[in-house]
Amino acid sequence: MTQFLPFHLPDIGEEEIDAVVSVLRSGWLTTGARAKQFEQDFAAMLGARYAVAVNSCTAALHLALEAIGIEEGDEVILPTMTFTATAEVVTYFKAKPVLVDCLPDTLNIDPDQIERAITSKTKAIIPVHFAGHPCDMDRISDIANRYGLRVIEDAAHALPARYRGRLIGTISDCTCFSFYATKNITTGEGGMITTDNPEWAERIRTMSLHGLSRDAWKRYDGHGSWFYEVLSPGFKYNLTDIAAALGIAQLHKSDRLWKTRERYAGLYDEGFRDLPEIVLPTAAAHVQHAWHLYVIRLDSERSGIGRDRLIEHLGKEHIGCSVHFIPLHLHPYYRDTWGYTSEQFPVATAAYQQIVSLPLYPKMTETDIQRVISVVRTLIQGSRR
Ligand SMILES: *Cc1c(COP(=O)(O)O)cnc(C)c1O
Repeated sequence: MTQFLPFHLPDIGEEEIDAVVSVLRSGWLTTGARAKQFEQDFAAMLGARYAVAVNSCTAALHLALEAIGIEEGDEVILPTMTFTATAEVVTYFKAKPVLVDCLPDTLNIDPDQIERAITSKTKAIIPVHFAGHPCDMDRISDIANRYGLRVIEDAAHALPARYRGRLIGTISDCTCFSFYATKNITTGEGGMITTDNPEWAERIRTMSLHGLSRDAWKRYDGHGSWFYEVLSPGFKYNLTDIAAALGIAQLHKSDRLWKTRERYAGLYDEGFRDLPEIVLPTAAAHVQHAWHLYVIRLDSERSGIGRDRLIEHLGKEHIGCSVHFIPLHLHPYYRDTWGYTSEQFPVATAAYQQIVSLPLYPKMTETDIQRVISVVRTLIQGSRR
């Protein structure tokens, strides 16, 4: 019987296992020296001034919005084509997540739609680098500058990605990364915020641990005393040293992991290029795509079969796949609470009917990639009229 090919597997080697075991043996499990090193290595690798490690990208986004001063009644513009985390953090402040449509090629946020959605209440924009393809940061920065808005990047998919030569994580006010189990590098659960602004970095650090004063952090490296002060009602978002040790090992091989992703994406491209029924993911010449996801679009008018039929077929052939994303405006919460309709987002609504994320990760072999290609091709070619 054919082996099941999961949609995702993390790339965990002996380095990661040794690093975690050594933390377990050390007697210091929570935030400490490893978390600090992870932050320093991460900031150095990206060329960002500050990096603060937290326990998820959702936490990172929440803290970034808190640091820039989002308040009740504010509006924050973000794409409908994203995961709920990007928008839910806005509601934590009783602020409004203002959804906008995406571009038909990259499925990234449409800058024209951003500009159209701006009101006197707009405070920030959260672009999401969909699948790892950087958004149009020149246009977004220009809009933000003209209207006096902050930009918080959701870079959950975008490590390592470049926009016009600059690494994602060094461009906007704050950039938020995810180390969730399926992301390009993982700590099981984890996240990181990069910023060049010392006040925000300090505020994010303070609020990530109960709003405790800087001195309190000294307790975490063995030099502290019993004394601390609460400066603000903060959150419990700190990253453990167990997770950070995993992160350091993953970070050091992230370039190699990315190169394999890029090569496999190229194999998929070659394998599907001659099929007019499939729209391949685009990669603009001025970006480095992080290739977190490989999202194809099945043109059902040309193919005579729908996206759901393709997913069903992959399942029968023991291949895992997924859909990124069910646009936010189609979920009951966003639809009912904020009154969004499909007609407001024609591009994302149409794309949603067509998209399938194929497995793409360094643990796959070239044979696995060829198997996926052949299963997809057989179905498409067999359904031609
Ligand atoms: C995974 C993901 C997140 C959330 O990351 P967590 O680390 O799980 O909190 C946010 N935004 C996008 C686009 C994601 O894919």
